[in-house]
Amino acid sequence: MGEIPKKQMAMVIQKTGGPVEYKEIDVPTPGANEVLINIKYSGVCHTDLHAVNGDWPLPTKLPLVGGHEGAGVVVAKGDLVQDIEIGEHAGVKWINGSCLACDFCQQSDEPLCPKATLSGYTVDGTFQQYCVANAAHVARLHKDIPLDAVAPVLCAGITVYKGLKESGARPGQTVAIVGAGGGLGSLAQQYAKAMGLRTIAIDAGDEKKKMCLEQLGSYAFIDFTKSENVAKDVQAATEDGLGPHAVILVATAEKPFQQAAEYVRPRGTVVFIGLPAGAYVRAPVFESVVKMITIRASYVGNRKDTSEALDFYRRGVIKCPFKTVGLSELQSVYDLMHKGEIAGRYVVDTSK
Ligand SMILES: [Zn+2]
Ligand SMILES: [Zn+2]
Repeated sequence: MGEIPKKQMAMVIQKTGGPVEYKEIDVPTPGANEVLINIKYSGVCHTDLHAVNGDWPLPTKLPLVGGHEGAGVVVAKGDLVQDIEIGEHAGVKWINGSCLACDFCQQSDEPLCPKATLSGYTVDGTFQQYCVANAAHVARLHKDIPLDAVAPVLCAGITVYKGLKESGARPGQTVAIVGAGGGLGSLAQQYAKAMGLRTIAIDAGDEKKKMCLEQLGSYAFIDFTKSENVAKDVQAATEDGLGPHAVILVATAEKPFQQAAEYVRPRGTVVFIGLPAGAYVRAPVFESVVKMITIRASYVGNRKDTSEALDFYRRGVIKCPFKTVGLSELQSVYDLMHKGEIAGRYVVDTSK
């Protein structure tokens, strides 16, 4: 293990709205219960763009180093850290740390901890070469997992896996994935399949249709731009015509959130995961009652969800296509996101 440098390169925003600047900053020092990770690769998530733009109802720290899908090597650790060693591979995810003592932490709901710190949002994240994180919360990465390819799994993969668990759907049951052709949606279909669920993909366009049916394992595709009645078509795609047992909403528009209660199966569960800006949900009370449906929301995974989601990935049943660019080119990735031209995930290489 080489010397830890005093300075490093990072992408930093000084004020909300950006710009994001490639500059030299100090290497942070881990606290007693933290590790210092030499980040090799970091995924770029839409949340990072929200952090730059400040359009979520939660302020970021400033100046800010964004990023929350970082994979690398542990290079230093605090005195209290005992269960992870220098040289091991680890991932930094959205939940950077939590108190581990509050009512929520005690029940493994650490994403709900009032003292949770958020990587690349309330604490500096992974768009730097050296990042600190609470040792209890870093993802343990087996050495046979490639650090570039796993980066997007650390946010998107864990998030959809958690949502599928929250849906309560059991092996053999059917789940509709709304926004199936996007990054979260394509992972959701693969996790669902690996969990023994059958999936109906809902999205738009022939390219996405082909991808969902031929590569991602869905048995049906509903194109909401071509369907005259999405609810009817989704129900008709289930064997008995009564609708899917669960609906996973990873869409970025509000309308599908309004529709899901109409076509979910009686006793079924609608799970909100996507975060369309400023969106609200209305559901018909009468139908909701007489169908006894559940509408719930799912945030990010806890530590156990993280290790389970990574274990699926390690077994090769989850593929997440990505492109790699240098850390210094992060702005070009944000520009593509702004234009809605992102296909697949981007991963930044912190060495350039
Ligand atoms: Zn993310
Ligand atoms: Zn807590």
